[in-house]
Amino acid sequence: MMRQYELVERVRKYDPTADENLLNRAYVYAMMAHGTQKRASGDPFFSHPLEVAAILTEFKLDDATIVAALLHDVIEDTDVTRAEIDQKFGPEIGALVDGLTKIKKLDLVSKKAEQAENFRKLLVAISSDIRVLLIKLADRLHNMRTLEHMKPQSRLRVSEETLEIYAPLAGRMGMQSMRDELEELAFRWSNPEAYETVSAKLGEIRARNAGLVQEIEAALQKKLVEAGLIATVSGREKKPFSIWRKMQNRQISLEQLSDIYAFRIVTSTVSDCYRALGIAHSSWRAVPGRFKDYISTPKQNNYQSIHTTIVGPRHQWVELQIRTKEMHEIAEYGVAAHTLYKDGVMLDGTNTSSHAKENPYKWLRHLVDTLLEGDNSVEFLEHTKLELFQDQVFCFTPKGRLIALPRGATPIDFAYAVHTDVGNGCVGAIVNGRQMPLTTQLRNGDQVEIVLSKGQIPPAAWERIAVTGKARSSIRRAARDALRRQYSELGRRLLVAAFRRIGHDYADEKLKKSLSRLSQKSVEDVHAAVGRGELPVRDVLKAIVPESELSQESIAKRKRTMDRRQNEEGWFAIAKGMGLKFRMPASGNDAANAANGPALPIRGINNDVPVKFEEAGAVPGDRIVGVLSEGEGIRIFQIHSPKLKEYEHERWVDVTWDIDPEHPERFPAKIAVTALNEPGTLAQIAQVIGESDGNIDNVRMVRRAKDFTEMTIDLEVWDLDHLTQIISGLKGKGAVSSVERIFH
Ligand code: MN
Repeated sequence: MMRQYELVERVRKYDPTADENLLNRAYVYAMMAHGTQKRASGDPFFSHPLEVAAILTEFKLDDATIVAALLHDVIEDTDVTRAEIDQKFGPEIGALVDGLTKIKKLDLVSKKAEQAENFRKLLVAISSDIRVLLIKLADRLHNMRTLEHMKPQSRLRVSEETLEIYAPLAGRMGMQSMRDELEELAFRWSNPEAYETVSAKLGEIRARNAGLVQEIEAALQKKLVEAGLIATVSGREKKPFSIWRKMQNRQISLEQLSDIYAFRIVTSTVSDCYRALGIAHSSWRAVPGRFKDYISTPKQNNYQSIHTTIVGPRHQWVELQIRTKEMHEIAEYGVAAHTLYKDGVMLDGTNTSSHAKENPYKWLRHLVDTLLEGDNSVEFLEHTKLELFQDQVFCFTPKGRLIALPRGATPIDFAYAVHTDVGNGCVGAIVNGRQMPLTTQLRNGDQVEIVLSKGQIPPAAWERIAVTGKARSSIRRAARDALRRQYSELGRRLLVAAFRRIGHDYADEKLKKSLSRLSQKSVEDVHAAVGRGELPVRDVLKAIVPESELSQESIAKRKRTMDRRQNEEGWFAIAKGMGLKFRMPASGNDAANAANGPALPIRGINNDVPVKFEEAGAVPGDRIVGVLSEGEGIRIFQIHSPKLKEYEHERWVDVTWDIDPEHPERFPAKIAVTALNEPGTLAQIAQVIGESDGNIDNVRMVRRAKDFTEMTIDLEVWDLDHLTQIISGLKGKGAVSSVERIFH
């Protein structure tokens, strides 16, 4: 295990300004926190974060990154909290460790192949700091290096995950050496047979070609020197996984395998690259179709190089990569090297400009700052060109399930993406532990908990808030179903009342026998048709009750019996049986009420039953009357409304207010005000209304005489008391001569 001073020395070697004390404290703290915990290998657990830190020193990362690497497992695996890290090591390191803890939680999520792409996107997106990803990759690399100690099943899972998620991520970040090592390690465990076969074949070829690498190296070097070109040539044998992948892609057999050698020519300038290419092509034959110029057209991850294949000295295919030193740094260190040249510092510590000496390790800070302007992960993605995912956001359920949504999605979309029932029952959302409005636009990495309520109907307005097709169509369907249920509830109530009027008890069973006579498919359909006013109540009565029982004497006789029984059982027993919230009729001597049965509760503007309020009709507290109208459910009128007289008594339905005090709503009301025609009058009126918490919707001047103005004001009030209070407040003003409520 690396000693404390060894780690500090490594960092100080490339960063003399590194905070030695901080590194020492983190080393001791992490060691103590992990205590006697052991790895699967039997090594002390602390050896793991220490090795991860060591890997990151190879990338010459800043002290905060090294410290965060030492601490990367403490929140998840020990009692240490984020707050404690913040307090002991500052919020910057706290945020890094927190980012890693978040990613670690993702490990609980199932990573099927089809989710892998989303997963890589997510990792990038939630790591608001590039250093989190660098630490995560180093963490994974060390775990892969020590994978042999794990159970075979875990080895397979971790290796597949590495191939599907982490290796491609390293590739996207341009970290070729990291990617290669991850892939080689993972290949060995995920496909042991293929690994063995390719390795054996490689061994054979190697034995046949002893000394070939040195020979080609020397030949290339000689040609370059002859042309006066200064360049480094290095050769290597390709690794099993990269050979395997090529075999898969090009579908060549192992027997055809020949190009297992790759050589790199590193020059100092771009023009030298093309000169080196000319020398290689004029000295040896080029293999057609293998030439690629990524210098003039860099890859997405900024990779630049010339690729070609030549037929080498011993007639072997030899792959050549030609690039400058800077391109080489970027190819190996990727993202970590990108801004290097702006600050003039190479990863190997050499300066390419003089001012860089002032703050040679600023580069990382600078990188992060540039990438994270405004701590915005979208910016980060844009700047690093990591093939962007700006059209998507990735969120989690509290259990860690990953939900991919289009950008702009809200908790409503999230809820429907989880399950239609969750969407339909959604009444609130807790995003990252905080109650948030359902209109909130979700962001990457948000953890979303949906607050559910039974019997809730998704408001139609949600259709405009939701952005996903699934949410929208589900909202529409739920609204349709709810409306249908409301109509059938209303229809059933009307039937119960009608049966009662003729001295019969209503039962669904009785309807069932007459469905065909009514041309309806189900009892529900009959209810809905009655509720919508499509099927007259008397038609239903005629279909069920024998003609003889509809005579006046017959009805009167049955009603006497019924009244007796009713007095015994009471209305409430019946009401409860129907699962509805009923009120007793307002007064016993009201004949209409008694005949109609219990009043239908009106819960507000958005009702359980299809209810339409007449314009400036009624506010809670007013006596109201419902009128059943075809296709529109019930229209509500204030009892004094002149319009009410246009409807025959038979169609009246007794209704009563049943406002939920938890969710008050404002209702429209209209008043006519006559006031003195002088400056400031309108302001006085507006002030009275405003101070009493009334809303003014509209003001219309009706007549402007010399001295008086008459105006109608559309208000929104909570209830009758509120309206009365506003009216008397207005009457108290000297400029106001009269105030009257109007209903049309
Ligand atoms: Mn770890």
